[in-house]
Amino acid sequence: MSRNPLDVLQQVFGYDAFRGNQQAIIEHVVAGGDALVLMPTGGGKSLCYQIPALVRPGTGVVISPLIALMQDQVDALLELGVKAAFLNSSQDWQSAREVEREFLNGELDLLYVAPERLLTERCMNLLSRGRISVFAIDEAHCVSQWGHDFRKEYLGLSVLAEQWPDVPRIALTATATTATRQEIAQRLQLESAAHFVASFDRPNITYRIVEKNEVRKQLLSFIQAEHKGDCGIVYCLSRTRVEETAEFLCRNGIEALPYHAGLTQEIRASNQARFLREDGLVMVATIAFGMGIDKPDVRFVAHIDLPKAVEGYYQETGRAGRDGLPATAWMAYGLQDVVQQRRMIDSSNGDDMFRRRQGSQLDAMLGLCETVSCRRQRLLAYFDQEIEPCGNCDTCLSPPESWDGTVAAQKILSAVYRLWKERGQRYGAAHLIDILRGKLTERVQQSEHQSLSVFGIGQDLSENAWRGVLRQLLAQGILMVDQEGYGTLALTEASRSVLKGEHKLMMRRESEKARSRSRTSGT
Ligand code: ADP
Ligand code: ZN
Repeated sequence: MSRNPLDVLQQVFGYDAFRGNQQAIIEHVVAGGDALVLMPTGGGKSLCYQIPALVRPGTGVVISPLIALMQDQVDALLELGVKAAFLNSSQDWQSAREVEREFLNGELDLLYVAPERLLTERCMNLLSRGRISVFAIDEAHCVSQWGHDFRKEYLGLSVLAEQWPDVPRIALTATATTATRQEIAQRLQLESAAHFVASFDRPNITYRIVEKNEVRKQLLSFIQAEHKGDCGIVYCLSRTRVEETAEFLCRNGIEALPYHAGLTQEIRASNQARFLREDGLVMVATIAFGMGIDKPDVRFVAHIDLPKAVEGYYQETGRAGRDGLPATAWMAYGLQDVVQQRRMIDSSNGDDMFRRRQGSQLDAMLGLCETVSCRRQRLLAYFDQEIEPCGNCDTCLSPPESWDGTVAAQKILSAVYRLWKERGQRYGAAHLIDILRGKLTERVQQSEHQSLSVFGIGQDLSENAWRGVLRQLLAQGILMVDQEGYGTLALTEASRSVLKGEHKLMMRRESEKARSRSRTSGT
């Protein structure tokens, strides 16, 4: 019985019509072609391989790293009457045998396999004895060594092309810069595959990036004012921060759960299950959380630490509003984030190439944070997609004022220069600001910094405004965090032309409401 894709969509899955380029992808794969599919989270990637698996003779083999979700995926398919099963390390020996038998008898429409399992001799042997309709490689960006989801087993998947040259392969991902796309195509031997790049725009998500001061309080008021009772995800960089933030939210009447790789498997599974099942829970998590999570009504995604790269950030924010209803992507970002991340990159063990790559990823992220034009335009440009200003991000909704920060920049650069030149000293942001504002702190007096010519030349700006200036100079590479690793600041090549007044520096105006308490440590 050969069925056509639209009938399967309607009769099996109960949907009226294909979305976006689903139909083109499905027809291409059904006809036996290889495909590389880039579609944002929630775009509907699953049907792109599920339908070909149902239309073509044989079993569709789906390679997915998401063992924890396989059971759910299979259950959902069984409910629709699709004969699906999985093979992974979570199942006992007998049920694995049963699945193997079903596969060999040609009873399965879809078989989900974890990559490490697939590459075992037993499994390769099994697959070679059955009939395969299509190979689907889900979360294909896991093959990219630069991404944070890298899985080394994915590198072994090129074996599929060698061993089954006649079986179409479809690789799918929501992570998709041009560089990643090329890397996926090359490593999975999909150079001659058709590329299907969906629009990455998620117009129902409002993008907002605020200046960070007391971040937990800011987060709390954001949730209380705009998303009370809503389901959301809060991303943090470290485990401790996850724990602290979840507790803080709970103490303040927001039901929040922690999720990070340091929790036991049971706690993680149970928190994830509660998040999926219950209404209005907030998951406070590291980036370990979220891949493959299909919860349509997540109303907000908040980042309280600066993400390391735009790709990850976009993918994380894409978990909001998958139902198409309004949702918010909110992020708080400040001077300390820039200092900390630059330090982390400098002190990492990677080689130069690795650091350069991390550095340029951070630069792109900072560019997004500091932009005075449409955020979405900037985000999509990163994925090579052009749009008009969106009208649904903070900079579109209330365009930030900009001001000529050239003189302020020169003052701070001179302070860094004088301290180094005259005293051989380097300091962090807080002390530099004290010097500029002419504050007679203990440290100023101990080091006799009141006698520097730059002492007190910056009283025209508030401490907060100075932090903004510093942050923007760091973001633009006009100042750098010293390699020594204490968060002290040093001049760069680019500092010189600013000191000489060779170009004008326009800056975002900091809102004076934001009073900064957290301070940068210096030496
Ligand atoms: P992705 O894997 O790209 O993140 P999914 O395949 O999980 O997205 O699909 C997201 C949601 O959209 C699912 O609930 C799915 O059932 C639904 N969906 C996918 N395609 C269609 C369609 N053509 N019509 C209606 N709903 C669809
Ligand atoms: Zn915009």
